[in-house]
Amino acid sequence: MPRKNRRLRSPERGRGVSADSSTVEGPDGRFQFRRINGSAAEKTYRCPGCDLTIRPGTPHVVAWADGGDGDDRRHWHTGCWNARDRRRPGHFG
Ligand SMILES: [Zn+2]
Repeated sequence: MPRKNRRLRSPERGRGVSADSSTVEGPDGRFQFRRINGSAAEKTYRCPGCDLTIRPGTPHVVAWADGGDGDDRRHWHTGCWNARDRRRPGHFG
């Protein structure tokens, strides 16, 4: 009897984060990012760009270091992500 129900997915990584991500090179290195639409945003996150929360249901951007496994993913407001090159937050990380 085959038993191949191995659960490889952790709760945080179940959405295939690299499925349709893009790569961008910036002053802090190379990142992959992906746009999250509102219906997929189910939790509250803290945006590292402005240090404010991203409410569930808010379309936003998730980004992580290229070459990493996504464990350091960060959720940004779309505007903060787009503006991060111009306004460097002092508390990144
Ligand atoms: Zn923000």
